[in-house]
Amino acid sequence: MDFKDFWLNLLKRLYPTISHQNFVSWFKNTAALSLKDGVLTIGVPTPFAQKWVSEKYETKVLQAAREINPEVKELAYEVHSSLEDPTDTRRVNLDLFIKKESKPRKVARGKEISYGNGLRSRTLNPRYSLNNFVVGKDNRLPHAACMAVSNMPGGIYNPLFVYGGVGLGKTHLLQATGNEMLKLNPNMKVVYMSAEKFVTEIVEAIGKRYTKEFKAKYRHVDCLLLDDVQFFERKDSSQQEFFHTFDELYNANKQILISSDRPPSELEGLDDRLVSRFSMGMVVELIFPDFETRMAILQTKCQEHRIIIDNEILEFIAYNTQTSIRELEGILLQVVAQSQIEKTTPTLRSVADVMKKLNRTKEIVGLDERIAEARSVIRTAEDVITLVAAYFNVTKSELLGNDRRREYMMPRQVCMYLLRHELSQSYQKIGEDFGGRNHTTVLHACNKVSEAAKADPKLVRDINAIKREMGL
Ligand code: ADP
Ligand code: MG
Repeated sequence: MDFKDFWLNLLKRLYPTISHQNFVSWFKNTAALSLKDGVLTIGVPTPFAQKWVSEKYETKVLQAAREINPEVKELAYEVHSSLEDPTDTRRVNLDLFIKKESKPRKVARGKEISYGNGLRSRTLNPRYSLNNFVVGKDNRLPHAACMAVSNMPGGIYNPLFVYGGVGLGKTHLLQATGNEMLKLNPNMKVVYMSAEKFVTEIVEAIGKRYTKEFKAKYRHVDCLLLDDVQFFERKDSSQQEFFHTFDELYNANKQILISSDRPPSELEGLDDRLVSRFSMGMVVELIFPDFETRMAILQTKCQEHRIIIDNEILEFIAYNTQTSIRELEGILLQVVAQSQIEKTTPTLRSVADVMKKLNRTKEIVGLDERIAEARSVIRTAEDVITLVAAYFNVTKSELLGNDRRREYMMPRQVCMYLLRHELSQSYQKIGEDFGGRNHTTVLHACNKVSEAAKADPKLVRDINAIKREMGL
């Protein structure tokens, strides 16, 4: 019996009986391994997958198996982590199950809706929801505040001021909150606007002496979502007008949500009265999320776009993206586009090439410095050295010593690399910890690991495993 054919056949029967997401999550990297005395043995990549498949889907799998081969009486499971390796020939390619037609609906940028009285808003993009905003430990508060606002507009989180760097999810959160409000109350007048557009409108109104109409117009808003308010910097007359609009809405208990790339107090040339008003309700910061959250975001984007990519590849992308979620998403889509054009499965090497082309990776670094700094409080060089030695099964003196055999060299270089990238230690200091080595030796070791990791999935897995043990 051809087990691959058998398994594909079985999956085809199974697919319509469970949700696409669950199907992909739990049957990716599975295989039929053997059939003996009526026992069909299924290979799964992790103990976790085994638990899920056996607890949730055993009846369905068994039923489908019997339809194809009535000899099957029972199922057994074996965990083979090698099934996660794309080159494992026992796997069935799940690409066959991807629905091509269900891409998210695109809304023309800049399209507008009118609320009468000249009040207009850019349409909210339905792609943004509070549900598909992935919440990790770093962005729980901004998300929770937006949830609260959508449930209780004009309540204690008014105004809600969300700030953070480029591509960290400000527009997503603003629009998602608007979408959620409209879902709960379709008659609300939710106006989304960039501060830039607001300034243009104000300038026009002033030029045409329509400022009264302008003010009156905004009186009808139930919720104002004002994006990128840093655009107000040093624009005095716009600030003046906005100040009145703000007060009027605020006093009528209308919700105001503002985003900015900096906190109110750091905006330059901003009227003190506005600074204090922006800080009245709640000010929350969006920061670049940790590795796990980045992984979860990538997995969510894969589901949204109905694409299946190996976790190892996603880990590589998450691990090497250091600035923004937009960049993370950009790399993922680029990787997918390339593999579709070339009709190949992405590999670590092809992903590294894409990232190089986008000129976004200079070296492999795990986390943004701010997080690494925070971590260095709880992690010492001593901890890392102990951990790495234990992981590679060498003694500390072998790790720190001069033996140049590979079994000691590689762990030594990985250890230096982790001290540099996860604890942000200077090359100098690392050199001292490693028996007074020169800082250029350390630099060389770190670069070597960065380079090697691009082509060596095992190394990436080792590094990730150690980082997980470090609690990263
Ligand atoms: P900003 O307005 O801060 O520059 P965006 O809101 O445009 O950033 O976010 C950039 C991209 O990253 C968007 O596609 C957005 O959906 C995505 N994104 C950001 N944060 C998250 C998150 N926590 N979960 C899911 N997607 C996110
Ligand atoms: Mg934005």
